[in-house]
Amino acid sequence: MIICRFAPDRVGVVLGDAVVDVTDCLSGLPAHRYPLPRFDPMIAALEELLPLMAVAAETGEHVPLSSVTLLTPVANPGKIVGAPVNYQAHLEEAQNDAAINFGAAIPDIRKIGPFLKANSSLVGPAEGVALRHAGRRNDHEVELVAVIGKTADRVAAKDALRHVAGYAIGLDMTVRGTEERSLRKSVDSFCVVGPWMVVANALPDPGDLRLTLAVNGELRQDDRTSNLILSVAELIEFASSFYTLHPGDLLFTGTPVGVGPVDAGDVMTAWIETIGEMHVTVRNAAQPCG
Ligand code: MN
Repeated sequence: MIICRFAPDRVGVVLGDAVVDVTDCLSGLPAHRYPLPRFDPMIAALEELLPLMAVAAETGEHVPLSSVTLLTPVANPGKIVGAPVNYQAHLEEAQNDAAINFGAAIPDIRKIGPFLKANSSLVGPAEGVALRHAGRRNDHEVELVAVIGKTADRVAAKDALRHVAGYAIGLDMTVRGTEERSLRKSVDSFCVVGPWMVVANALPDPGDLRLTLAVNGELRQDDRTSNLILSVAELIEFASSFYTLHPGDLLFTGTPVGVGPVDAGDVMTAWIETIGEMHVTVRNAAQPCG
């Protein structure tokens, strides 16, 4: 099953090029009050929701996907985990290009482990990317994103994929420069996740998926997740040895070789085998509104 969120605050099941509104299935979710939980309530209840959504999708009205505004499939992740330089060819590219590394050493992910992106950077594909430092180099990084489905606390790699609810496409947008990686990757709108989430039982092996990114139709990145240095399962093992992963947490798994700059007016097309495709526009950020 493929689950999406679309404006204004609706949940849908994607069927081909149509979407069926299944928001009513969520009416039984617990009404959380302050203090709010540190997990995403829809993802935490997904196993119970999926059969309800399947029934609703059979009988509901089909609306063309092209007519809805797609939001990020997970509304309230507790945290967003990133994998720095997790493809060998991108490691060499990053080590050899001063426009990427700005003189900093690029260590092996097996030594430094994952980082965090600010939750406030999360957007869906239809919201687009807004540049705050338009004079600097702002790069695209297409990545497979795993959505954590079950609480994962010190989970071994062999058990890790059982804790995944599904998969989506991510753009780990990055300002190149000398600041901390987590800061440069946490600009508002620099975490695009979409166009929907493919539930894990429809994508049992995330370990050999082709992923591509084009800018204005020009192919920039084209690789397979079989070239990940740390696999999805190994990333979950590494991350969950330090902190508990909660339902709805998003795990960016790293970008392949071919990162490059985007500017206002560009359109990025990100595609991952079995998941689908999303188009994301780039603009300059508006001035702050007080
Ligand atoms: Mn990345």
